[in-house]
Amino acid sequence: MKKIFWLLVLLALLVGGCTDNNTEQDKLQVTASFYPMAEFARAIGGERAQVTMLVPDGAEPHDWEPSPRDLTKIGRSQLFVYNGLVEPWAEQALQAVAERKVLAVQAGRGLYENGGKQDPHVWISPKKAMIEVERITDAFCEADAANAAYYQENSRKYLAQLQELDRQMQEIAAAAQKRVFITSHAAFGHLAADYGLRQLAVSGLSPQAEPTPADLQRLAGIVKREQVDYIFFETLSDPRIAKVLAKETGVQTAVLDPLEGLSEEGRKENLDYIKIMQRNIDNLKLALAVQ
Ligand SMILES: [Zn+2]
Repeated sequence: MKKIFWLLVLLALLVGGCTDNNTEQDKLQVTASFYPMAEFARAIGGERAQVTMLVPDGAEPHDWEPSPRDLTKIGRSQLFVYNGLVEPWAEQALQAVAERKVLAVQAGRGLYENGGKQDPHVWISPKKAMIEVERITDAFCEADAANAAYYQENSRKYLAQLQELDRQMQEIAAAAQKRVFITSHAAFGHLAADYGLRQLAVSGLSPQAEPTPADLQRLAGIVKREQVDYIFFETLSDPRIAKVLAKETGVQTAVLDPLEGLSEEGRKENLDYIKIMQRNIDNLKLALAVQ
């Protein structure tokens, strides 16, 4: 009798263990290309989705490429979330795993056009981030219809936080005494365009596009003319050029984070999209002399 009792306990433990594993596997399996896409997917998926981020913390997404292992991750997931343009590899990756029938959502599609250029940095504007979140939510509901109400509820809460950021940006648009801000790479064009501001960047649309001495001279001229008080640098790429420019023109520096990835410190401090955007907005208020 005692033996049977212990056998039953053992069985219960085994079954329990299996159930736990099943719960992990029962979750909607999602891969997201880089940080903001993973963050939006986690906010929507909550406890019912397992979100794997491909571009690791501390890496620059503009020059990242997937390994065969990353392709396997995409192939094993039910949903793949990407922004578009930041991930020129995405289409090929999806073709490579075509037989797995992974549902893909290109959250930024059709939103890139800005001043005649195709600018991928749409997630940085709360207005466009809201559109991305809505599209990712629709994809979650399509991939896992049984949990649609849960995803929609999570999405609604997250959108409310984005709406608050949008409200603060509109406040800046209405009350800023300055309109121009200078950044290290041109990641804030959509943020500027959506709220009536002007971004001038030390380097181009990717952090690797180095400025020429003539570019720097032109920017130094603008700093004086527009009475710019702050030059922004960012967390993942080299701040050297922005700092040199600030020193030469005698203005201050502050962080404006393009949210292309979390730094190690950011991860330790438990920062997320909403908190970092709040810090960006606070720094913009300083730089643009919002009273
Ligand atoms: Zn960028």
